[in-house]
Amino acid sequence: MASRSFRGSFTQQEPIPEDAIDAAVSVLRSGRLHRYNLAEGEPGETALLEREYADWQGSAYCLATASGGQAMQIALRASGVGPGDRVLTNAFTLAPVPGAVAAVGGDPVLVEIDENLRLDMNDLDAKARGSGAKYLLVSHMRGHLCDMDRLMEIAARHGLKVIEDCAHTMGTRWNGRRSGSFGLAGCFSTQTYKHLNSGEGGLLTSDDPDLMARATMLSGSYMLYAQHGAGPDESQFGEARYQMPNMSARMDALRAAILRPQLRGLDDNIARWNERYEAVASRLRRCHAIAMPERPESEDMVGSSIQFRVPSLDPDACRGLLDACAARGVELKWFGGTEPNGFTSAHGSWRYMREQDLPRTDAIMAALFDMRLPLTFSLEDCALIGDIIVETAMEVAQ
Ligand SMILES: *Cc1c(COP(=O)(O)O)cnc(C)c1O
Repeated sequence: MASRSFRGSFTQQEPIPEDAIDAAVSVLRSGRLHRYNLAEGEPGETALLEREYADWQGSAYCLATASGGQAMQIALRASGVGPGDRVLTNAFTLAPVPGAVAAVGGDPVLVEIDENLRLDMNDLDAKARGSGAKYLLVSHMRGHLCDMDRLMEIAARHGLKVIEDCAHTMGTRWNGRRSGSFGLAGCFSTQTYKHLNSGEGGLLTSDDPDLMARATMLSGSYMLYAQHGAGPDESQFGEARYQMPNMSARMDALRAAILRPQLRGLDDNIARWNERYEAVASRLRRCHAIAMPERPESEDMVGSSIQFRVPSLDPDACRGLLDACAARGVELKWFGGTEPNGFTSAHGSWRYMREQDLPRTDAIMAALFDMRLPLTFSLEDCALIGDIIVETAMEVAQ
């Protein structure tokens, strides 16, 4: 039998829903694209989005920002990180995470991951003690939540302030509680490849009024913070309005208008991502050469991407698997390459920071593959993709 190929695109998102397009067109017709450019009595799309996202997330406050990276930078700075301060963060994550630490002058201390791609709790404990860091930017990389109870226990023991990078976990829960609600603040992205799509954009949530007053000023609110949709009371801004620099990281009305209708469809989309994840994962699990990260019972996941390892492969064989899958239309990312490529880079390529020794993470990343699951894929597409990966892995792993 001739081997089948997949013909879809791994970077093709669904179109923006028609009601979101209508909302965008009305903002364009109004000419009022800046969040503070409001007609008499008009709340504005950005403020409405903040209110609706805070309600959905179950947080007291929400601030819309220009990007997820800006949400992290603002959260770090608002929680007190300054030049030279050590910030613990995952050794396996995407470049904007150490980039956010560097942007506020912090000194990233990278923590090992385990074979389930979550933060290694023993290494976290040891490095919190050894480094004297007072901050942890935990990245829920590729949607894998670590044991949040244990994480918060370690953080409390060492007096760590926790900021959560939820770029891949919008909608994910741990024991029923949403990611982003464990630490001081949660940082979300609405960049095209995440769970809501406004091209670029970010959301910062928290229950802490002081932190959010500082964050609001940092985002570039000028003295217009009373126009926010889910911000702290004006009385909280007494100090922040003088102390915090304006970093111009606001979200505009056009992006907010596109996001509000998408938020209403998010729960349905989460179910659709999880069906697609299961369609691929059920096939990969049957292949003895492939190791899948465990999904703990406490986690309600959002399967917008899938990861697996083929531990028996050396680097040449990993490249062989990438090429053989690509030849059949399946675009995998490999985290074991020595050179940064596309969106993928390893800690060794972040040369603006101190070089760090992370043998466990390196060993895991050496044979780690990753794939997006855009909602434009049908369940049949996902089944075919799973079959192609298994067939190819069996050939290469022989
Ligand atoms: C995309 C991403 C971010 C940052 O989001 P942007 O909106 O692109 O700045 C942060 N963390 C992770 C893990 C990401 O993948």
